[in-house]
Order: sequence, then structure tokens, then C-alpha cells
Amino acid sequence: HPQLRTLVRTTSFHAEHRPTTPAVLCEGRTLTYGQLHGESNRVAHALRAAGLGPGDRVAYLGKESEHYYEVLFGCAKSGTVLVPVNWRLAPPEVGHILHDSGARLLFLEAEFGPTVERMPGAPPETIIALDDGFTPWKASHPDTDLTAAPQVTPDTPVAQLYTSGTTGLPKGVVLAHRSFFAIRDALAGEGLDWIDWRTGDIALIGIPGFHVGGLWWATQNFNAGTTVVAMRAFAAREAVDLIRELGITTACVVPAMLRMMLGEPGVGERDFTTLRKVVYGGSPISEALLEESLTVMDCEFAQIYGLTETGNTAVCLPPAAHVPGSPLMQAAGRPYPGVRGKVIDDEGRELPPGAVGEVCLATPAHMVEYWGLPEKTAEVLVDGWIHTGDAGYIDEDGYVVIRDRIKDAILVAGENVYPAEIENVLEGHPGVAEAVVVGAPDERWGEYVHAFVVPAPEHRPTPRDLHTFLVPRLAGFKLPARYELIDSVPRNPSGKILRRELRDRFWSASSRKVN
Ligand code: ATP
Repeated sequence: HPQLRTLVRTTSFHAEHRPTTPAVLCEGRTLTYGQLHGESNRVAHALRAAGLGPGDRVAYLGKESEHYYEVLFGCAKSGTVLVPVNWRLAPPEVGHILHDSGARLLFLEAEFGPTVERMPGAPPETIIALDDGFTPWKASHPDTDLTAAPQVTPDTPVAQLYTSGTTGLPKGVVLAHRSFFAIRDALAGEGLDWIDWRTGDIALIGIPGFHVGGLWWATQNFNAGTTVVAMRAFAAREAVDLIRELGITTACVVPAMLRMMLGEPGVGERDFTTLRKVVYGGSPISEALLEESLTVMDCEFAQIYGLTETGNTAVCLPPAAHVPGSPLMQAAGRPYPGVRGKVIDDEGRELPPGAVGEVCLATPAHMVEYWGLPEKTAEVLVDGWIHTGDAGYIDEDGYVVIRDRIKDAILVAGENVYPAEIENVLEGHPGVAEAVVVGAPDERWGEYVHAFVVPAPEHRPTPRDLHTFLVPRLAGFKLPARYELIDSVPRNPSGKILRRELRDRFWSASSRKVN
């Protein structure tokens, strides 16, 4: 049946097999699979009654709640495409997404009403207030399946996610249903337990649902019929409490969330006894943080690597590779069955194992396109290969090692220096909680390495301390020429360092690097 591998079938299947199992737990409220099916049917009917059909864009601006998932499946069933908007964005950024996507309807939480009022241009023609208008809006429609439902196949677009824009203006990445099935199917087909979803699992979503990582994790769990715990917005103390109180068994987080949870006062092993698997990724992780997380959380860990454009993860570091001290701990992992990886040079020639270049991935979960940007699409998606923009290499055994974004590389006297490598080493110093490294202009060498350091509690490392620590561990050209203590690292909600914010002050408008 063509709908089998689509999100259309997800809720009806579980409504049949486990109608009373909670699908979503949020702030003490429960939405069962039976209810998720019925309520998303109402949303689908209501969208149709509002004149929306296949291919129409439906935007969502609100924090996490069960409503978000009712809308997700309502969109899937009506053939419309969900455009989740990061609620931390400023009015012009929200305006860009709403106008670029051409969303005709917006689900809006009251808290973000002022953002929409202040954005340039006209808002979508229909706005449904999530706080009080949503329930009555859908209530007058039946909870039964749509009659004459649109033809939805694994290739039908279902979500349009905007990249966070750390490398430029956000682009709308169009993902089809297949992106939410390919990886779990590939793992199951080979009987691999790199990441697994078991009946009875209670899964914490740390990554926000407007980000591909959060949406992917939620849909994988729904496809498996487990229970998802949604937090309105990630907060470390709340996450730790939820894990203990609800007996959470799995979690998907970015490294910054691990750091925040472990940094909460009094947090220790007894808080995580029910956890059996932590899936993490989205940005590089330092070995120090990974080892501490393994010790304190004391369960299986799986790293994921991928982009919005690859439909989230394409590469995974399986639990068995998480052996402290093993060189594999520096790898992002290996491609899933059915996913291929290669590394190319500036001219597009494939490089041998071990050589650093641009990592490219061919995955069945890859995006359909960048919305309205055919030229950009053709640059990034070439013959089924996604050009990731990440520098890295693939070793003889097929493990992918990511250095950093190519655009973040610092060019010191003709040598490429990747910030993540230096940050990783710096974070091994006991006086360093976090480190960020950027390139600053240097008359002699082109650029020099400038290190920002957030000191660990009750520490104040001096440049000399840090330098002495780094000298035996890094090549001379990689050593920071300056160190600066800062209070915190600017990050976006998916945990990515906003390097540009720290870098820009070194570059005058005329000399600013083009990236
Ligand atoms: P933009 O291109 O606008 O910055 P974005 O930040 O939203 O978009 P995503 O698709 O969310 O982009 O992130 C993909 C990037 O995240 C990868 O290209 C890589 O640099 C980084 N990343 C993801 N997982 C890992 C990982 N496990 N290790 C290292 N880096 C990772």
C-alpha cells in the first residue's frame, strides 16, 4: 500500500493497535494514540474546510505541546506541508519564513502575537490562535478519516524546515514522508540496534520540534508507537526532573543540553537510572563532555550526524564504539545501511580514505529541494549526493570524522585550522567549561586563532595556563594567539555556536570574510 511508509498511516495504525497508550505527555496532560488519530483527523478536515489542500503551506509559531503533533499529522493527512517556525526568531526573520513559504494559514500562540504584529509585510490570510481558538476550530469537524483523502506517497512533501541561518539567510528545506522512515527501516532491515525504539519506551524530546532533530525524533517514536515527552521549551532542571519522575528511557539531545543537565547542582547518577539510551548530535561534542556524560548517565549512547538537507541523521556512531579513550570516540560514526559517504576536494574529485575534504552523503532520506531556490538546490543536491559543507574525512573502516564547517575554517599562513579541534582540546583543561575559537585578521599570517573561554566554576585560567596546556597537544599554527574570558557562549536553540556573533567584531565591514 503506497501510504504504508507515510505519516498518514502512523496514527491510524497505532489507534488500532494501542489506542490508550499515551502518544504525547506534556505538562501533565496526556494525548493517547487514539486521541492523536482523532484530533489530527479533525485538523485535516478543518484545513480542508479552510480551503487548503495538497501542497499548501501551513505555518506553526508556538512552543512545544500536543497541539503541534495534532497539526503535524493533520497536515500529513490533508496533503498540506507544515512549516514550523522557530519562536525565538525576531519579527523580520519570522516575516521572511512566512512570506518565503507562502503560508496561507498560521497557528499562533498568543505569546508570539507581538512578533507577528511587528513583522514586515502581511501575515497569512488565516490565523488560528493556539491558546483558545484551536480547540473550537477543530471541534466542529469529525474525528474520522478524510473521505477522498489526497494521494500521499513516501515522496509527498510534508514539512518545510528553515535552516537556522548560521551560514546565511534561512532556506526552506522541503522534506517528504520518506525522510521520516528511511533510517529506522534501514536499521530494522539489518537488525542493528544503533538506535532502537522499544514498546513501552518513554522518549524525551530535548531538541525543539521546529528543528529537524526534534521533528525526526518525535516521528521515529510515533512510528514505533512509544510515548513522547514534550517540554514547552528545553530547561535543564526540568529535563532531569522529568527523566526521574516519568521514568524516561530514551532521549535525543544536542551536546549543549548534556552540558546543561550535568551542570545542574546536585545532579548525579541516581537521576538517570531509568535511561537506557541517549541519542545526541547536531554539533561537535568534546571528548571531555562525552566521557562525563557516559559516566554519569551510565547507559548506551549513539551519536547522530546529519543536516536538515539529509533529513536529519545519515551517519551514526553506535553504542559499541563509545569506549572512553578509543579513537573512534572522535568520529561522528558510519553511514547507515543504504547510505553512502564520500569526500571530495575543491574540484569535486573524490579523495582517498583519510584525506580531508568536503563530506558528501547519498541518503534515501535526503530533501526534495530548497523551496523556490532551484539554483541552490542544484549546488547542494548533485546526482543524489548532498554536499554537506562540512570538512572531514572517512577512514579505512568507513568511519566519518567531521572537522567542522568548511566556512568556519581559519586560514593561518595557508593552513586550515578547524575550530572544533581546538575547542575540544581546550575543554580538556580543568579550568575550562566551554571554549569557542574564531579567526581574526592578522597582517602577517592572514588570520590568527582567537580563543574565547568560559571558565569552569571557581576557576580563572590565565592565558599562560591555557597556552602551556595546549602546546604539547596541538601543532604550532593551531595555537591561539589570544585568549579572552567570557561569561557564556552564544548558541542557537539547536545548540550551535553562533560563531559569527563572536567573530564579527574582528572584521570591519570591508575586510569581513565572505562567509
Ligand atoms: P545553517 O546551514 O543555516 O547553519 P543549520 O545550522 O540549521 O543551518 P542543520 O541542518 O541544523 O543546519 O545542521 C547541520 C550541521 O550541524 C552539519 O552540517 C554539521 O556542521 C553540524 N552537525 C550535525 N551533527 C553533528 C555531529 N554529530 N558532529 C558534528 N557536527 C554536527
